[in-house]
Amino acid sequence: MKEFKQYINGQFVNSTSSNVTEVLNPCTEEVLSVIPDGSVEDANLAIDVAYHAQKEWRSFAAIERANYLNKMATIIRENRVFLAETLAAEQAKLFGLAQVEIDVTADYFDYNAGWARRIEGEIIQSDRRKEHMFLHKAPIGVAVGILPWNFPFFVMARKVAPSLVTGNTCVIKPSCVAPNTVMEFAKLIEGIGLPAGVLNFVCGGGASVGNALTKNSKTGIVSLTGSVFAGQKIMEATAPNITKVSLELGGKAPAIVCADADLDLAVNAIVSSKVIFSGQVCNCAERVYVEDSVYDQFLEKVTKKLNSIKVEDAFSGNNPDMSAMVSKAQIDKVEEMVNFAKTEGAEVVLGGNRSSQFDKGYFYQPTLLTNVKQNMQIIQEEVFGPVLPLMKFSTLDEAIALANDCEYGLTSSIFSENFNKVMHASQELEFGETYINREHFEAIQGFHAGWKKSGLGGADGKHGMEEYLQTKVVYAQYR
Ligand code: NAD
Repeated sequence: MKEFKQYINGQFVNSTSSNVTEVLNPCTEEVLSVIPDGSVEDANLAIDVAYHAQKEWRSFAAIERANYLNKMATIIRENRVFLAETLAAEQAKLFGLAQVEIDVTADYFDYNAGWARRIEGEIIQSDRRKEHMFLHKAPIGVAVGILPWNFPFFVMARKVAPSLVTGNTCVIKPSCVAPNTVMEFAKLIEGIGLPAGVLNFVCGGGASVGNALTKNSKTGIVSLTGSVFAGQKIMEATAPNITKVSLELGGKAPAIVCADADLDLAVNAIVSSKVIFSGQVCNCAERVYVEDSVYDQFLEKVTKKLNSIKVEDAFSGNNPDMSAMVSKAQIDKVEEMVNFAKTEGAEVVLGGNRSSQFDKGYFYQPTLLTNVKQNMQIIQEEVFGPVLPLMKFSTLDEAIALANDCEYGLTSSIFSENFNKVMHASQELEFGETYINREHFEAIQGFHAGWKKSGLGGADGKHGMEEYLQTKVVYAQYR
């Protein structure tokens, strides 16, 4: 069993608290590691050292900062199998998918390093003669990155890479549920020569360490990926200091399947986005609206496809489609929501229970629900599990209205071969992303941003990098 320490000011240090949290393998329920259940003092120390280190870090040429990101990418690639094994074990992510996450994370560091020579300001025309107005883009200061358990390694890069390249220093707090890969990364990059205090890793609960990091007056920006509840708590904690927040929160993605869609493509795309990582993905299809004239045909195809899903251990060599859910808390939540939907009249076409195939672990069956209604909890609230509820619609405008009738606004999709329909829907859907005739998954050069309760600000691409910059206008009068 491994024991991790926090990484503060360029050193692995013990927490001032002696409490620890156990990290479990969700397939076997074995204890994999213990991490410190850190203290408020640890959090404040990490912010302090990051604050002092930032004064020098921001004076580095952007390309010098970028060189460290390239080194991180190289180290990730050199250790890709070890990191993927760590990731797969701590969160029951299928090993193949874990490798994809590790590889994309390396690319993410390189991609952000590429922005170093493209962080540009503007020269604005002054109303005065002999004056230039220079709009500079400046780092904010200390960036706090708070991570979820579902894509902990990739999301770590989403915070670290853009904050460091733009001249901020960074404090990362991984989720207590899946911190191991991130803490292994802290060990791997120890030797790259990053100045002390530029990048720090502290562990602990959201209400304690997370709260202390976010309410510290030296914190410049808090970037959270997590639940709406945590986002609300962070907005409360940052309000007294008017600290900038960037929030990537939950989703309840609708998929609209029109009568003229390629139904096989729609079924494959929706099911694959639903079973990938057992449905524990913020952007994956959470509810499906099918045009009534093809509903029966779609139901038959989606039932067949979901029935063929192989559920196995994350390291199985049998080419599985899905593994366990991440934790007891997560499977309990999914079970409770499906049971509640049943009491509200939902019909279980497939699944609807924990899997009886395994003695240990948090395995839930791929589940298909019909006879659901728009006002039911299963249609309105994020399930974050392998559960697909289906509803019918008659007109596209009705489907768009049903899709928009939700507090979340992260991602959405439409399946149709009609150009006019997809263009109309992509304008009307109130979501930060709309996927047309494809699975739900964003690209690192896009901009992943939620509308409504799904978030504020966003990540990836140029706009994601600019989250970590503030503007300053210099009025330069000359004679
Ligand atoms: P969570 O909100 O329980 O925890 C996320 C992080 O926030 C953890 O590190 C936690 O310790 C911390 N936290 C909790 N309370 C806090 C507080 N008061 N102050 C500071 N930090 C606090 O979420 P989770 O269960 O780890 O992740 C699943 C959720 O994340 C889902 O809702 C999912 O949709 C969302 N998510 C969103 C995106 C996106 O890009 N929009 C991506 C991945 C996950």
